[in-house]
Parts: sequence; structure tokens; C-alpha cells
Amino acid sequence: MNKKIKLWGWCLALFLLTLLLVSLPAIANNGSKQALPELQIHPLPPELVDLGISLENRSLLGDDGTDYFSQVQPSPLGYLLWSKFPVTVAVDYPPGLTPGSAAQKRYYTWQQAIKTAIADWQEFFPLTIVENTTEADITIFYREPPLPRIVDPETGLVSFGRARTAQANYEFYWTDTSPPQLRHRMAIAIKPGLAPLSLQGTARHELGHALGIWGHSDHKEDALYPAQTADVPAISPRDLRTLYRLYQQPTRLGWSVLVSN
Ligand SMILES: [Zn+2]
Repeated sequence: MNKKIKLWGWCLALFLLTLLLVSLPAIANNGSKQALPELQIHPLPPELVDLGISLENRSLLGDDGTDYFSQVQPSPLGYLLWSKFPVTVAVDYPPGLTPGSAAQKRYYTWQQAIKTAIADWQEFFPLTIVENTTEADITIFYREPPLPRIVDPETGLVSFGRARTAQANYEFYWTDTSPPQLRHRMAIAIKPGLAPLSLQGTARHELGHALGIWGHSDHKEDALYPAQTADVPAISPRDLRTLYRLYQQPTRLGWSVLVSN
């Protein structure tokens, strides 16, 4: 079969060019010393405990048991994993769509593909859809990702790279609880106008990044393979094994600030 493999420029660009906006606001210092939380391991939610058991059973059935965890990059504050469940995800609804218009129909095709991709992950991971995009852990935006900005180190001239299909970004914040907790949120931009199957594969891939798989697989059967293939990959046992290993890693995210007087 003639497999047409196109490089997803956005994917490569994600890792080469994502500006890690470590926009961590300073914590108000009222005389006591406050430091970043220590790297610690969170308890697994029941869904991931179940996933671990089913992966174990698959191995007994002759599944090769491999993963690509070595490709997953921790953020400057540790692995990008969630610790408050279910993780909330909101799907953007752009303003100004005329009811019944072609533009609105196009949007609903996009939205349907995104919701199917969310449902695909929900089989294995505690994820829930919420309406409010400002409060969600993960927000999926109906828009074209910005063109990657490339600065020539010698001349200082700025140029723009190839357009991307999708992009995931994260940012950190402190909760306003006492003591404050270090958290992150994810924003995914997915371009309008792709074919539904391709959209679903793209959303599945980007959601994998948003769940913390900040890296790529080199097997084209995995959802986190960085190129688009003729057969859009489903979430594979290797994706799930990578996710399961990830959630057993320590991180500073989801823990409270250390306070000492
Ligand atoms: Zn990617």
C-alpha cells in the first residue's frame, strides 16, 4: 500500500520552537521564606491503577510491553502531569458564528472531531468536558497556531517558519489558596478546515501532549508519532504504557509551596 507520510511541521516545531513561558508570578513574601515545592510523586487516580492492571494483563498475552517514555521531556518544574482529577477540558466556541451558516457547520465538524478525540482518551484517563474556557485545565482553541518565529543568530533578522496544523503550550500558575499550590494549564490550538479523520488524529495527538506526554514516539502506530500517516493511529498500548510510566514520576506541579520562617 502506498503510504503517504507527510511531516507534521507543527510537531517538530513544537519541540524546537515552543517558547517555554515560565511565567511564574512571584509569591507574595510576607517575611517568611518560600520555595518551590519539592519533587514528589502523586498517588495514582483509580483509572490509572486500572490501566496499569490491564497493561500488565496485555503483557501476559504477548504484547511486546514497550513504551517511549525515554522521549518524554520534563518541564523546568518537573514532568507535566496532572494531580487533581478529573482533569477538565474546554472546547472553544468562536464568537460571531451565524446560526445555520457554512462557517458554523464547519465549526461543528471540527468540534465533533475534537469531542471524539476527548472521548478516546476518556476510556483510559479521568477527563471531563467543562463549558468555561477560563477555568479549564486544558482548552482547545478553534484557530490556526501562530507561525513559528525564527531569529537568525548572526544577523538578528526575524523570519517565520512553516504553518502548523496544531500546537500545544503550557503555563504555570499559583493557586490563591493558603499555602499556594503550583499548577499548570494547557492551551491547544487546532486549525479549522482539516478533514474530520485528520482532525481527530491531530486532537488525539495534542491531547496526549496535554496529558503530559511531552515527547514523540518513533512508531507510526502510536498516536504520538510526529507525522501524519495514511492510517490515522488510535491510542496504542505504547502510548498508554508511556502515560502510565509518566504518572509514576515525581514533579513539583500540584504540590504546595514550602514555607519556612
Ligand atoms: Zn507532537
